Amino acid sequence: MKASFVQKLACPMDKQDLALKTITTNTDGDIIEGILTCHHCKRYYPIIHGVPILSPDEYREKALEEPVIRRWEGLLPGRLVEGFLLEGQKSDLG
Ligand SMILES: [Zn+2]
Repeated sequence: MKASFVQKLACPMDKQDLALKTITTNTDGDIIEGILTCHHCKRYYPIIHGVPILSPDEYREKALEEPVIRRWEGLLPGRLVEGFLLEGQKSDLG
């Protein structure tokens, strides 16, 4: 996923802008792994294998996301809490 593509994305729950935290990129600078966060509702959305997982809560599979998110925990701009939320994220995200 191109970093500039983030500007076209919005939170599926409230349509607010998302902030990007890049975790890994390929040699072209495309994002392979990363996390998108919504400042409005504080939800997080992972980017896995270059694909942003932007689904409303009811279509998300916590069990599938959890191992990936846990691996990134030290890199996240906040603390994971229940319900796909990221708490205490910094305002200088992205
Ligand atoms: Zn939101």
